Amino acid sequence: MKSCVFCSILQEQIIFENDSCVAFFDKSPVSIGHLLIIPKVHKETYFDLSRSEKMDIDEIIVRAKVDLDQQYSPNGYNIGFNCGEAAGQSVFHCHCHLIPRYDGDIKNPKGGIRGAIPDKMNY
Ligand SMILES: [Zn+2]
Repeated sequence: MKSCVFCSILQEQIIFENDSCVAFFDKSPVSIGHLLIIPKVHKETYFDLSRSEKMDIDEIIVRAKVDLDQQYSPNGYNIGFNCGEAAGQSVFHCHCHLIPRYDGDIKNPKGGIRGAIPDKMNY
């Protein structure tokens, strides 16, 4: 069975948990409150997840938003998966980024996740 740095995430780092998934803060956050949500079982990408794992990730996203709203009052969120090296994935244990966004955190946020390909972000 494959394992990785995310497989050995410590219990005390876990912020949210349900049957199949856990969430913890990104150790190099791009914004305050940047969370990663992962399946407990090592799966490489979103496309390897079962339906119930996807639902459990969604359950944590919804629950975490309530908590992040209370703690940090962000003005928006980006939610996303990098699937594969070409898409920028660097830890090959599926993880969903939940990124709180704040007014003025970048000069021109228009396009959001489209910024994955910076030259095509502006339209
Ligand atoms: Zn893993």
